[in-house]
Amino acid sequence: MAAAAGTERARIVIAGGGLAGLSLALALKRALGDGLDVVMCDPALTRDPHGDRRSFAIAAAARRMFEALGLWDKVADKAQPILDMVITDSSLQDPVRPTYLTFEGTVEGEPFAHMVTSGDLMALLLDACRDSGVDLRPDGVKGFSVQGAHADVVLAAGGTISAALLVAADGARSRLREQAGIGWITWPYRQSGIVATISHERDHEGRAVEHFLPAGPFAILPLKDEVLADGTVRHRSSIVWTERSENVPALLESHPEDLLSELEKRFGLQLGGITFETRPQAYPLAFGVARSFVGERLALLGDAAHLIHPIAGQGLNLGLHDVAALAEIVTDAMRLGMDPGGADVLRQYERARRADITAMGIVTDGLNRLFSNDMLPVRLIRDLGLGLVDRMPGLKRFFISEAAGMRRSDVPRLLKGEAL
Ligand SMILES: Cc1cc2nc3c(=O)[nH]c(=O)nc-3n(C[C@H](O)[C@H](O)[C@H](O)COP(=O)(O)OP(=O)(O)OC[C@H]3O[C@@H](n4cnc5c(N)ncnc54)[C@H](O)[C@@H]3O)c2cc1C
Repeated sequence: MAAAAGTERARIVIAGGGLAGLSLALALKRALGDGLDVVMCDPALTRDPHGDRRSFAIAAAARRMFEALGLWDKVADKAQPILDMVITDSSLQDPVRPTYLTFEGTVEGEPFAHMVTSGDLMALLLDACRDSGVDLRPDGVKGFSVQGAHADVVLAAGGTISAALLVAADGARSRLREQAGIGWITWPYRQSGIVATISHERDHEGRAVEHFLPAGPFAILPLKDEVLADGTVRHRSSIVWTERSENVPALLESHPEDLLSELEKRFGLQLGGITFETRPQAYPLAFGVARSFVGERLALLGDAAHLIHPIAGQGLNLGLHDVAALAEIVTDAMRLGMDPGGADVLRQYERARRADITAMGIVTDGLNRLFSNDMLPVRLIRDLGLGLVDRMPGLKRFFISEAAGMRRSDVPRLLKGEAL
């Protein structure tokens, strides 16, 4: 690879150190070790990893990948398995919320998902990347240009790195995707997801609850108990409270007691008294999918390639599926002496991800349209559907294996728990 004088070289540069970018860097270094130099650029690398108050349901397939990467033992100490799941459908004013659908939380003898806070996962991934020799640079990527067999990656603070492959893991508003001229099909949901950690008096017993309310789903997701310095145990859950975006600023600026009473109306009192453990944060929700997941010497990863509604808790899992696919394709190519940023390798990645991403985008968009709707006929039909599914154990097993990420075709090796 010929690079201009004064230009650094690296085989792979990853722009964006969110959970997807960091997972890819770790997977590549675990597979190829010193045989591959990976530079990770993100101005936010020096941020407090616990600044993001979200918590994620890590599906069983993604858990297997973290196991294969040698990270799961550490994550497991902080993760809460989801042991069962209850789905209700009602208006906010309804005095009772009938349960329409219940799921047992296991698939092939293991929990279909574990809840972990974004902060805990991010901190562990950063440490693991550092220990395995990823070159972590707290600097943004300003742009890139392709020069034959390499991409010249220009850093915001000055300097250029010449790389065989540039991975854009720079989030839904990806600057690199735009610079490559890759189209983005998008529409807003006019909903925001309010997230916070809630403390409650009683044990959640590993139960996840999703209330379908007219403004959108309200999810209560169990987190691992916290043991305080004085030995007392704090029971905690994470919420994803979907609201119409126009109502969110007033809600978040309301008096803390008023906000808590709005929360109680949705959360219910089945877990006893509740309090906010973290200040609520709101995320505007939208749909987006890139017209192509690759460009010349460029691969899109995670939210830079696709943005979906959190109704099924699958956005990050989809990004981790990208990670497993790209890490496998690049590793296999490099072991055969092929160019990791070559057109054949990139085409293989595009083919591997297109169907899964399209299907998940359609399903989550459809579910949100069906359930964020208060028209009586629609409610009656969907409640009938939920009730029918509840009486069909085979179908329920199918849905839970889908959510666990274990039914997709061509599952990459890492998602089966196999090392690369
Ligand atoms: C309310 C809510 C709840 C959710 N719950 C779940 C769930 O339960 N399960 C699940 O699977 N998913 C869930 N998701 C989806 C999940 O949060 C995202 O899919 C995931 O965080 C995306 O990670 P990422 O690494 O692709 O992108 P991001 O987290 O957006 O990271 C992008 C990174 O790129 C960096 N960056 C940006 N520009 C540049 C540049 N020019 N150069 C270098 N770096 C740059 C940024 O600093 C950032 O660190 C949820 C989403 C929301 C909104």
